[in-house]
Amino acid sequence: MAVQPGERMQVVRGNITQLQVDAIVNAANASLAPGGGVDGAIRRAAGPELDEACRQLGGCPPGEARITPGFRLPARYVIHTVGPIYHGGQLGEAQLLRSCYINSLRLALEKGIRSIAFPCISTGVYGYPKSEACVIAVTAVSEWLRDQELPERVIFCCFDEEDYILYKKQLQELSA
Ligand code: ADP
Repeated sequence: MAVQPGERMQVVRGNITQLQVDAIVNAANASLAPGGGVDGAIRRAAGPELDEACRQLGGCPPGEARITPGFRLPARYVIHTVGPIYHGGQLGEAQLLRSCYINSLRLALEKGIRSIAFPCISTGVYGYPKSEACVIAVTAVSEWLRDQELPERVIFCCFDEEDYILYKKQLQELSA
């Protein structure tokens, strides 16, 4: 019998750059230029080769995703996706945020990626309300996993306690 979507999703608290997975997702900006937050952490850990690889991609519109090697990271790939900047929720932010997850998973499938870790996209400087973003993330990923065999394992990597609690609760509701 196929493994249920809930059993393929996991929440961890920590720094995404340290995870031993096939791919980590970066919450990038539309020019794929060096930023702060999770982007800064990923670039520091991956080394300057990542900056160069991003430069060559020439940007990425919100909701889409691009892939590079992971260079010095334990992860083989970095998938860069650009979340929406939150302006109150009436400008299609939810759909764009969902697209970030779906388009990242689509790239992962194309590359045969078996394990992938997501940060909480848009919930830092881009200001997306954490609770709403969590529901969108878990819903998008679980719907994808219902139809697809790859990735086998999806990790939600929460940097702060508030996100960790939200994701734990959301995954529990799914399996209830
Ligand atoms: P955005 O511009 O999409 O809001 P940020 O990097 O500002 O991106 O924040 C996105 C999320 O990434 C936030 O929840 C933040 O706490 C988290 N974050 C920051 N550094 C790390 C890290 N090293 N590993 C995992 N998550 C991180």
